[in-house]
Amino acid sequence: MTAATCDRCGDVPALPFRETPLCPACTAQVGLEEAAASHLHELMTPVVRQWAAHWAHTFRPVELAALLACEGEAWGGPAGEPDENALAYLHRITGGQA
Ligand SMILES: [Zn+2]
Repeated sequence: MTAATCDRCGDVPALPFRETPLCPACTAQVGLEEAAASHLHELMTPVVRQWAAHWAHTFRPVELAALLACEGEAWGGPAGEPDENALAYLHRITGGQA
């Protein structure tokens, strides 16, 4: 029997109890990512709801969702290139880490 390799970094051995095999370091990183995403969602929900209520009589739900996706892409979302100012800000506050 061979040990599973980590789906993220390829290290061996991956922890056996996860659905997706991850090494201990990647397991910790995924936990931090999930916490940060949850934190962002909690902070953004009241703002997004207020914004959507303001524009609800002008745009259909799919149009509002598309506008929200554009904002996410401006910050480096999976479908878009990060806006130069957003990326510069993120580099500055993280001390320039890639
Ligand atoms: Zn790993």
